[in-house]
Amino acid sequence: MHALLKDLIELQEQDSQLLILRAQLAEFPRRFAAMDERLASARGNVEQAKAAQIAANKERRKFELDAELCKDRISKFKGQSSAVKTNEAYRALQHEIEMAEQGLAISEDRLLAEMVAAEEYDRQITTAQSALAVTEAAVRVERDAAERDRDAEEKETAEHEAQRKLFASRIPEDTVDHYTRLARRHHGVALARVRERGNEQSCAMCGVLILPHLFEQLRQSESDDLFHCETCTRVLYYVETPTTDAAPYTSTASAPEENPATESRITSRS
Ligand SMILES: [Zn+2]
Repeated sequence: MHALLKDLIELQEQDSQLLILRAQLAEFPRRFAAMDERLASARGNVEQAKAAQIAANKERRKFELDAELCKDRISKFKGQSSAVKTNEAYRALQHEIEMAEQGLAISEDRLLAEMVAAEEYDRQITTAQSALAVTEAAVRVERDAAERDRDAEEKETAEHEAQRKLFASRIPEDTVDHYTRLARRHHGVALARVRERGNEQSCAMCGVLILPHLFEQLRQSESDDLFHCETCTRVLYYVETPTTDAAPYTSTASAPEENPATESRITSRS
């Protein structure tokens, strides 16, 4: 294999790794946002429970005030009852007292209901606060792990970028341009390995059969000419398969390899 093709294969390997890494890195903002959302939701539940309690306390104070007003009226009317001179006035006063007593009974009932409900509000606040504490602890652990993963992947990305730069610098600029255009057209995979199956050879990326004369050229070429797949237009390369170990080819030869990660794992160099 010509040195140029070897460098292109190395370049492709770096790009395939970078494709995977960048896709993984692009997921982190969504992961962090989901964690923030869970925290905000748990905090919102605490705030909601507290707000319900504040509203209930306000209601309670209103009923307390109503009850006080009723008591004041009752004592005022009772004080006036000794001074009334006619039966009619007395009956009217009695009626006022009864009305005020009814009002007092209603206010006291509502007050009692609010006091019972207050315990429920306390319980809801405690529950929401416990849930928040659990969520905060879980998110802290998840965030630490995600940050570690992200840092490791960023480091790995930088390493592959440096490697890529090195391989790209060894390849003529117009060939890199050609490679880049092909890669852009094919989701980042510009190269296609030749796959052997019995006496047939095919493009590992699109599956099309490779004509014998082209295969011979690929196999023997020591020039820096690049050969392209007639169908998918990727740059073809051939890596000789060790004859003693044909197992990987019998198990994977059924379908074209469209996964750049699989395609990029080129270890042998002819
Ligand atoms: Zn092809």
